[in-house]
Amino acid sequence: MTMPSYRNLINGEMRDALDGHWRDTINPALGQPHGRAAESSVGDVDLAVRSALDAFTEWSAAPAAYRAACLRRLADLIDENGERLSRLESIDQGKTLRQALEIEIPRAASNFRFFAGAVEHVSGEMHSMGNAALNYTLRRPRGVVGCISPWNLPLYLFTWKIAPALATGNTVVGKPSEITPATASILGELSIEAGFPRGVLNIVHGCGDPVGRRLVEHPDVGTITFTGGTSTGAAISATAGPMFKRLSLELGGKNPVIICEDADLDRAMPQIMRSSFSNQGEICLCGSRILVHRSRMKEFTDRFVEMTRGLKVGDPLDPETDIGAMVSKEHLESVANYIRLAREEGGVIACGGGRPTHLPEHCRDGSFLEPTVILGLPQECRTNQEEIFGPVVSVQGFDTNVEAVERANGVPYGLACSLWTNDLTRAHRMASRIDSGIVWINCWMVRDLRTPFGGWKHSGVGREGGEEALKFFTEATNVCVALEDG
Ligand code: NDP
Repeated sequence: MTMPSYRNLINGEMRDALDGHWRDTINPALGQPHGRAAESSVGDVDLAVRSALDAFTEWSAAPAAYRAACLRRLADLIDENGERLSRLESIDQGKTLRQALEIEIPRAASNFRFFAGAVEHVSGEMHSMGNAALNYTLRRPRGVVGCISPWNLPLYLFTWKIAPALATGNTVVGKPSEITPATASILGELSIEAGFPRGVLNIVHGCGDPVGRRLVEHPDVGTITFTGGTSTGAAISATAGPMFKRLSLELGGKNPVIICEDADLDRAMPQIMRSSFSNQGEICLCGSRILVHRSRMKEFTDRFVEMTRGLKVGDPLDPETDIGAMVSKEHLESVANYIRLAREEGGVIACGGGRPTHLPEHCRDGSFLEPTVILGLPQECRTNQEEIFGPVVSVQGFDTNVEAVERANGVPYGLACSLWTNDLTRAHRMASRIDSGIVWINCWMVRDLRTPFGGWKHSGVGREGGEEALKFFTEATNVCVALEDG
C-alpha cells in the first residue's frame, strides 16, 4: 500500500519540496511510518512568502464579508471531512480518536467561523474632542503573517492562528510541527476547494530549522504568531526583536489546580481527571501541580489515585481508550526521565510511572506511558518547577489560602490555573492574586473564543483571541480631523 504524501501549499497549489526531499511521519501508537511529509528548505519558505506578498494587495482590500465567506466555506469543509481529519490527527499524534472527533476538529472549524463573524461585526473606535476635532482609528492588516504551531493539538492550534490572521486581511505562511504535518496538509487541500484566492494561505512543512527559522528571519514577514516551547520562543524573540516584528508567543506552562478545604470533590474529580490526563497531558493548559488543602489531602489522594488506576491506556482508535500514545519516542523518553528525576528527588510514585502492561499486541512498539501521580515533593524541586508535558501530576499540600497562592505563583510560568471552592468571596479574591492568563473557577478548559488568551511570565508574551486577536493582526492609525478653522 502506498503511503499518503503531505505536500506544501504554495500559491494555491499542492507542491513537493523544491529539493524533492521527504520525511516519514510516524504513527506513535504503532511506532511505524504512516505517511511522508515534504521536507522543505529556505527556498520553499521564500517562495511561499513571495506568493503571500503578491496575494496581499487584493485580499486585504476585499470586503470583510468576502473574506468571511471564504473562511466559512473552509469551516464547512472541515466539518464535512471531520471523521477523516480526526482519524488522521489520532494516527499522526497519538491522541484518542474521541478527543479529535469530539473536541479538536470541531473547534478547528469553530475558529474559522468565529473570526469570520468577528470581522463582520467588529465596530471601530472614535474619540471626540468636542468642537475642536475628532479622532477615529483605522485598523489595517499588517501584511504577511508567519503562523508557527506545535504538535500537541495540531489542527486546532494551527487554525487558531490562521483564522484571525486571514479574517483581518493578512496573508499567511503557516508552519505546522514537522512531527504532526498530516491535517495541516489536508487543510491546504480544503482551502483550495473552498476557493481561497491563490497565495492567501500557504503552508510549508519541514523542521524548525530551517523552515521556522527562515520564516522568522524573513524581512517580508512582519508578524509572527508562535505557539510552542519557551526556549523556542526565546530564540524567536532574539531574532524578531531587533527586526521590530510584531510577535505573539504562547508558550509552556506548569499549571496549578487548587483544591480548597470546601471544594465539592464529587463535582471536581471528573474535571481534575481531564485536566490532568487529557491528550496524555500534552495540552499546555493541563494542570500538572495539584495543590490540596491538608484537611482534604487523604480523601483527595485516595480518590484521585483510584480513578487514575482505572484509566485505560491503549490503541487511540479504540473508543474505550482514555489515554493514547505519547507523540514520539523522544518525547516519551523525556517524560520518563522526569519520572526518574522525581524518584531521585524523593517523590513517591503513588501510581503509574512505567509502561502499561496490558497493551494490545499491535501497539507493542508504540510510545505509551501509564498516567502517573507523584506525592511528597517540595515546591522548589525540578519536578515541581519544570514543564513535563505528559500524563504526570504532582500533588502537594497547603494550609492557608495565602500559601496556596504563593505556591501557585512560585514557578516561572503563568498560563492557566483551576481553583475549586464553594466560597464565592474566596474564589474571586484568590483569582485576583494568581499570576496566570486564565483562572478557571470550578471548571477546566471552558473556552469562549471572545476572551483574551495567553500567558504571564515564561508562558508567553501578548494575548490572542477575540478583540485581542483583531488588534494583534492589524496596525492602527489614528486619524485626527480638525472641526474648527485655525
Ligand atoms: P517547539 O517549540 O519545539 O515547536 C513549536 C513549533 O516551532 C514547531 O512547529 C517547531 O518546528 C517550530 N520551531 C522549532 N524551532 C524553531 C525556530 N528556531 N524558529 C522557528 N520555529 C521553530 O514546541 P513543541 O512542538 O514541542 O510543543 C510543545 C510546547 O508547546 C510545550 O512547551 C507546550 O506547553 C507549548 N504549547 C503552548 C500552548 C499555549 O497556548 N501557550 C499551547 C500548546 C502548546 P518542528 O516541530 O518542526 O521542530
